[in-house]
Amino acid sequence: MDFDWPDSSDTRRLEIREWLGSHGDRPTQEQLARAGYVAPHWPKPYGLGADPIHQLIIDEELAVAGVRRAAGGIGLGWAGPTILYGGTVEQQERYLWPILTGEEIWCQLFSEPDSGSDLANLGTRAIRDGDRYIVNGSKIWSSGAHKSKFGILIARTDVDVAKHRGVSYFICPMDAPGLELQPIVDMTTAYSFNQTYFTEMELPLENRIGEENDGWRLAKVTLGNERVSLSGEGALWGSGPSANDLIGVIKNAGGIEDKIQRDKTSRLYIEGEILRLIRLRTLSARLKGRQPGPEASVRKALADDHGKNIMGLAKDLAGTHGVLTNAGPLGQSPEFPVGQSAVEGWNNWHGGFLFSPALTIGGGTSEVQRNIIAERVLGLPHDIDVESGKSWRENRKDDRRL
Ligand SMILES: Cc1cc2nc3c(=O)[nH]c(=O)nc-3n(C[C@H](O)[C@H](O)[C@H](O)COP(=O)(O)OP(=O)(O)OC[C@H]3O[C@@H](n4cnc5c(N)ncnc54)[C@H](O)[C@@H]3O)c2cc1C
Repeated sequence: MDFDWPDSSDTRRLEIREWLGSHGDRPTQEQLARAGYVAPHWPKPYGLGADPIHQLIIDEELAVAGVRRAAGGIGLGWAGPTILYGGTVEQQERYLWPILTGEEIWCQLFSEPDSGSDLANLGTRAIRDGDRYIVNGSKIWSSGAHKSKFGILIARTDVDVAKHRGVSYFICPMDAPGLELQPIVDMTTAYSFNQTYFTEMELPLENRIGEENDGWRLAKVTLGNERVSLSGEGALWGSGPSANDLIGVIKNAGGIEDKIQRDKTSRLYIEGEILRLIRLRTLSARLKGRQPGPEASVRKALADDHGKNIMGLAKDLAGTHGVLTNAGPLGQSPEFPVGQSAVEGWNNWHGGFLFSPALTIGGGTSEVQRNIIAERVLGLPHDIDVESGKSWRENRKDDRRL
């Protein structure tokens, strides 16, 4: 790690302190958005065009002042950057402010029952009919779709080219006629997912982002968008408790006698330190203007298993109490209230334990991360691609939607 940290007299710090001083104790989300503090890395007028150091200064100053910004979710993290990158000026003016102010929530309509890891194989069709598209098909694992105003949707607009080439990117109003949601309750008992069905759903032409059949390039922008952050030690995709939090609970409870559990605790600490150093190395590269490469997959592959290990050990340490929801020495965890976690409804070790198997699936499974590491970091031979050189239609001869 080799960067200098701007001290307390840095003009960017003074600027934000002055702004905070003139906006009372608790500036509203709207005020924070208009000042450019919700997404400082976005260009003006939506952000401040802030470089990574400036972003971290803003994060730090807001944290010191106790000011919290709304989580932002898929709108701020994925939809907004894609609209900024590939959207028209009209689309930017219409959609970006309500994302920043938190008025409009977004979801992501990418995965399908038959296309998850191999996302480019998606089969939801959008067929052009004059100045509109007619959409038919289904998406799955649509997190928060039931609370969303819009979804980012990728659908197939050409079946006679290779799978990556025939995909377009759309903004989908979640109340469009022909769109239906079926709730999926996960094993934490939260209703956070949906299966989404489209039957003859109409989308006007102005809801397409970018050119027709250029959606895969935009989808990669969506999936590759990661804001620079110093935080993210938490076991659940950066949220929730970390290894050090669990170690703190263990110390408070008087330590552990069991040798195997002591050994597991030491390993957790070592994993946590390795991940912290990888995070700092990534941050250092970003500050020098380098984009994260495949090493992001190394971090994800390690962090997801680490998250499972933290939650697994927490559950084991609860002993027989562990079978009960909120009981035992690690039962309720009031220091991590609902709302601080990316995981809806999670507020205790039990919920975190039940959620943790999702870590090695969502956002690209562990096996897929290992393929990326093997091929792009270690230079091992690529998987044999039996579909290479064929169009999507040729590869889906038996698909009844064709
Ligand atoms: C908490 C959570 C939230 C999510 N939210 C959303 C959302 O909001 N919107 C959305 O669109 N999707 C969402 N997803 C879906 C997620 O993106 C997919 O689950 C993920 O991409 C894996 O796809 P799949 O479930 O179809 O599994 P599959 O791709 O069917 O994989 C099944 C198994 O086969 C293995 N496998 C697949 N391909 C290979 C290969 N080439 N080599 C080796 N092994 C392989 C996988 O690793 C896995 O073990 C979410 C998932 C989770 C867990």
